[in-house]
Amino acid sequence: MPFTSFALDPALLRAVHDLAYREPSAIQREAIPLIAQGFDVQASARTGSGKTAAYCLPLLQRWHDAPGDGSAPTVLVLLPTRELVLQVCATLQQLSVHLRRPKIIAAYGGVSINPQLMALRGGADMVVATPGRLLDVLDNNGVQLDKVRTLVLDEADRLLEAGFADELKRILALLPATRQTLLFSATFAGPVQQLARALLPTAQRIHIDEAAPDIRQRAIEVDAGRRSDLLCQLLAEQDGARVLVFVASKQGAMELAKALQREGFRAAALSGELAQERRERVLENLKNGTLQVIVATDLAARGIDVAALPVVINFDLPRSPQDYTHRIGRTGRAGEQGLAISLIDADSRAHFRLIEKRLQMSLPREQIAGFLPRDTPSPRLAASDDNGGIKGSRPSKKDKLRAAAAAAAAAAAKPD
Ligand code: AMP
Repeated sequence: MPFTSFALDPALLRAVHDLAYREPSAIQREAIPLIAQGFDVQASARTGSGKTAAYCLPLLQRWHDAPGDGSAPTVLVLLPTRELVLQVCATLQQLSVHLRRPKIIAAYGGVSINPQLMALRGGADMVVATPGRLLDVLDNNGVQLDKVRTLVLDEADRLLEAGFADELKRILALLPATRQTLLFSATFAGPVQQLARALLPTAQRIHIDEAAPDIRQRAIEVDAGRRSDLLCQLLAEQDGARVLVFVASKQGAMELAKALQREGFRAAALSGELAQERRERVLENLKNGTLQVIVATDLAARGIDVAALPVVINFDLPRSPQDYTHRIGRTGRAGEQGLAISLIDADSRAHFRLIEKRLQMSLPREQIAGFLPRDTPSPRLAASDDNGGIKGSRPSKKDKLRAAAAAAAAAAAKPD
């Protein structure tokens, strides 16, 4: 099924062609016609499934058909991180390049609010924002939400995660009751399901049961003290392909990036502490090939979308099975083949076994000539029934706070 079978303006089809999207992805096939017709949609779609274009294309079509006067946004997209805000803005801009251009404004934290307020002063057609910064903008009378016709909550599971519930509640209260609402989430369990039910009682529901992305997973046993050397060897074997290396701490990211630079690799650390412009420059440099390797923590890596990112290396293992899945999901996107390598030292063997058990998989252990492991687990780990720090199934304090926040959001979303 080609893109031309959708009722999309030729200008949008040209942009799709420019981006070299040959065929619509599964979520695009299902979502584009429903969104274009104005239905509320609840879709389970993970990052990498093509979901951004699945809502951007029909929303641009609807805007093109009925543009509004541009004084206030008719489309509001909420996302959990600034990187995602920038990516969605970029997609909207790329897809609208041949249309009469809508005014698309990004509002996200970590940078001065003033340029965003200035940009909004002359009105906007579409606003793409993180909830916290949008509220700051609203507090400054920087935008009116009463003309919003479509609200998109993208990565809704994560929007509910980080205690965004109160912020969502305040924003929802400012939106017109009659509007189109689109809810995208990787999963619809627990709190997201409650929110979906409250917010979208009559939505069209889409569930794409896509085949697992094509990611080859390797587990290599190595002594802790030899991991850097082995990493250099593995990087050298990647033929210049881009690599994302995960470590456990910001400090570790800085140190490892420096060590790799000393060995001649074009590497940089991506840490949540870097100023926003610097983070963007690091990502841009990875995209344009100036950098080959990024060393990041789980938090800093959130939202990285580099189309050709074929290799992920767990230098330090992730804390939880969920983090493992998120990490390796950075690769193998949009139908590309990916490779995920985990380095396992003596003290993390038990932890990796638990990750495997929870994910119901079992990877063969590899050993590499020149790096044969000699260490034994440290006595504390060997003696105890330690689960290696993996998150247990009992809800943590943080989990409970999140659940409470999600319940509040669901309650707020209920019509009065
Ligand atoms: P997303 O799930 O929106 O984060 O998209 C993941 C990646 O797939 C992005 O780099 C998109 O540019 C790309 N993409 C989206 N739709 C298609 C398509 N139909 N064909 C090929 N690539 C696509």
